[in-house]
Amino acid sequence: MSSVSYQEWIDSVVKPEQIEKYLNQGRDFVNEELINQALLANRQPSKTRLREIMAKALELQRLDPDETAALLNCQDEEIWEEMYQVGYQIKEKVYGRRIVTFAPLYVSNYCVNNCVYCGYRKSNKETVRHRLTLDQVEAEIKALVQQGHKRLIMVYGEHPLSDVHYIADTIACAYNTKVGNGEIRRVNVNAAPMSVEDLKILRDVGIGTFQVFQETYHHKSYQRLHPKGTIKANYHWRLYSLHRCLEAGVDDVGIGALFGLYNWKFEVMGLLLHTIDLEEKFGGVGPHTISVPRIQPAVNTPFTKNSRYLVDDDSFKKLVTVIRLSVPYTGLILTARERAEVRNDVIKVGVTQLDAGSNIGVGSYSENNLDYTRQQFILGDNRTLDEMIRDLAKMGFITSFCTADYRCGRTGECFMSITKQGKIHNLCMPNAILTFKEYLLDYASPETKTEASYLIDKELDALPNEHVREKVKSMLERIEAGERDLFL
Ligand code: SF4
Repeated sequence: MSSVSYQEWIDSVVKPEQIEKYLNQGRDFVNEELINQALLANRQPSKTRLREIMAKALELQRLDPDETAALLNCQDEEIWEEMYQVGYQIKEKVYGRRIVTFAPLYVSNYCVNNCVYCGYRKSNKETVRHRLTLDQVEAEIKALVQQGHKRLIMVYGEHPLSDVHYIADTIACAYNTKVGNGEIRRVNVNAAPMSVEDLKILRDVGIGTFQVFQETYHHKSYQRLHPKGTIKANYHWRLYSLHRCLEAGVDDVGIGALFGLYNWKFEVMGLLLHTIDLEEKFGGVGPHTISVPRIQPAVNTPFTKNSRYLVDDDSFKKLVTVIRLSVPYTGLILTARERAEVRNDVIKVGVTQLDAGSNIGVGSYSENNLDYTRQQFILGDNRTLDEMIRDLAKMGFITSFCTADYRCGRTGECFMSITKQGKIHNLCMPNAILTFKEYLLDYASPETKTEASYLIDKELDALPNEHVREKVKSMLERIEAGERDLFL
């Protein structure tokens, strides 16, 4: 591509008319005055008030900004312990004792942007650039399917070499690759903000959730961290990217903030306001998932160690807890950026999804390559999928590879109305049992089979509905006999 067409491509990405329609008299929904006032006005919440707020969250009602600010300002460790418990109870009420598992697949690390915290930024000459061919995508998928994975998040830098057509082709390749009994059944995507027209192309190829993280909701910090003249410098193009998704008919969207760029309490408030605005504008459909990435070291990226807003482990657990309580019905993703001991602890406050067996170098699964220079950042948790499943089983969690909601059309409004009533586990837990059985039969090590098989009977016995239990039992027999991909 010539340098002129490269620049033309960059200039053509942002569509101002697809931003302006969402602004209110030129202003976005991240009302910093409101956030700061809420944090100030609720800086010394009483125990009684905090317990009332916890009770509301336990009823699966979304909290308002004042209530969330009060939780964030709690100074009482005894109350925090109560909040951790409530986070767990909410998660169990909405989703059951299951953890959905997926793998990240980094497909292309070319990027036109220059975000100061990112190993993939254009100016980072120490990053080795790579864009997978379709044959290489197939090799990566085979390596992942052979681990037992069924769900992916495919990740792309922003670049004309990885435009929407490339993304669509690589997703189609992922869906079309079969290995023995296995295949990828749901592809989620983490990519740059797109126009409504491009998002419709991804909708038609059958993507699951489209994720765009705002990185920081704080306007000035956003400007400081995303240099002028880059596409990403446009705060509003990014802020309304998921509004455009829902407009384009991509029903499941995932939000997130990169913790460590600005004050973590402010970012939690930003995530809440983002949720509220999506729900208000799209008939109650907010984010399908909220992610809580925390800055990790990256090759030749000193900012990752020097930021004045780095979040310590204790504060990290607290912020995840407050998000769990503030938006009780939404999926919560904790990735392998975090060390295993952090994940094993934080999972107990209400996380619903974890990646496992992750390798984030482009092309690294099939080559079994752990070279940091291909990575956006350095992972904290290098457990294999099998090890993760075993550890989760020891903690009483069943791992789910379920992809049924998306394939049965339980997305968007339908998914939200089921989760808000706390009823999704009537479907999710049976499907977790069925997909877990497949994993144990096809991929588990002897050790994992020994330590994790008990969960099938335990969760089967715990199913509240006798009719559903009998149905699942007969489906388990069919899986034993060789059938695959059975779900409710
Ligand atoms: Fe590019 Fe994303 Fe990294 Fe920014 S954070 S440099 S947009 S890959």
